[in-house]
Amino acid sequence: MKKYNFNAGPSILPREVIEATAAACLDFNGSGLSLMEISHRAKDFQPVIDEAVALFKELLNIPEGYSVLFLGGGASLEFCMVPYNFLEKKAAYLNTGVWAKKAIKEAKAFGEVVEVASSADTTYSYIPKGYEIPADADYFHITTNNTIYGTEIREDLDSPVPMIADMSSDIFSRPIDISKYICIYGGAQKNLSMAGLTFVIVKDEAVGKVSRYIPTMLNYQTHIDGGSMFNTPPVVPIYCALQNLKWIKANGGVEAMNKRAQERAALLYAEIDRNKLFRGTVAKEDRSVMNICFVMNDEYKDLEADFMKFATERGMVGIKGHRSVGGFRASCYNAMSIEGVQALVDCMQEFEKLH
Ligand SMILES: *Cc1c(COP(=O)(O)O)cnc(C)c1O
Repeated sequence: MKKYNFNAGPSILPREVIEATAAACLDFNGSGLSLMEISHRAKDFQPVIDEAVALFKELLNIPEGYSVLFLGGGASLEFCMVPYNFLEKKAAYLNTGVWAKKAIKEAKAFGEVVEVASSADTTYSYIPKGYEIPADADYFHITTNNTIYGTEIREDLDSPVPMIADMSSDIFSRPIDISKYICIYGGAQKNLSMAGLTFVIVKDEAVGKVSRYIPTMLNYQTHIDGGSMFNTPPVVPIYCALQNLKWIKANGGVEAMNKRAQERAALLYAEIDRNKLFRGTVAKEDRSVMNICFVMNDEYKDLEADFMKFATERGMVGIKGHRSVGGFRASCYNAMSIEGVQALVDCMQEFEKLH
């Protein structure tokens, strides 16, 4: 039976990306050695990281003056590295979910944190609007896609101060106006590569402005100067990212990824809204096109476990909602085909007929 991988992260990757990475793990570039057993400074590996950085910049149209870094530690370490490097006195944060909250917690250790707005009152079912961003903040931090709740800021906001964004789960799903940000980061395991890699886009001239000592490994300047090779970088995930960046380019770039994402989301949300058994969990105008959350309508609540079994038997993988939301979550990252979403919609329709 064909499996459709709706996992939230680590998550679906294109088959060819997995095959190319697996092949390099057996024999890298015809060297007779595995990618896992060569030096990151080997002459054959430098072109891998160089090409990955170049393609990353090309696909996102990153202007001059920005660096792309490949690090370890996950988005979770960036929650601390961001304020370490950029928070001198005050920072503004938008609280749109668990990840945003974790970023806020870390920032509080470094200075004054203004939470400009929060949707915690409704389990983060919407993106707050109409808040004020203090003009004297060092930066304004947002989480563009709230992986757990299924809300998304799918535009580049206007802000009186430079923006910083956690784009773990929607990077490479749409064009971004990079010039509005001094830093964009994320764990690669949602929409870019396998687990073990963190990407950071950083504006070079924004680094080095805070007065505190920053430990070497936590200082962005270290990694800008070292070309992400200050210490041993995660070579296999970087290789995997390169394969995926090539796949994105061959499939039309981020414009095409955006179009595909909109098509998938339109198909699934239309069914959620039509089907008498289900309903969406978040404000319609803030619906994520990456993580689509839905629950059973109140009168059918006791069918949730049955539907999970029904869908699992038909090849749907990873559609269980996060425990804080319940119900279902279909994560539709770049590699998810429209056929996969159609298969889920078919399940929902068949299940409806039975009830
Ligand atoms: C998954 C996720 C994280 C955590 O990423 P790690 O790489 O596991 O630290 C942070 N932010 C968002 C939006 C996520 O989806």
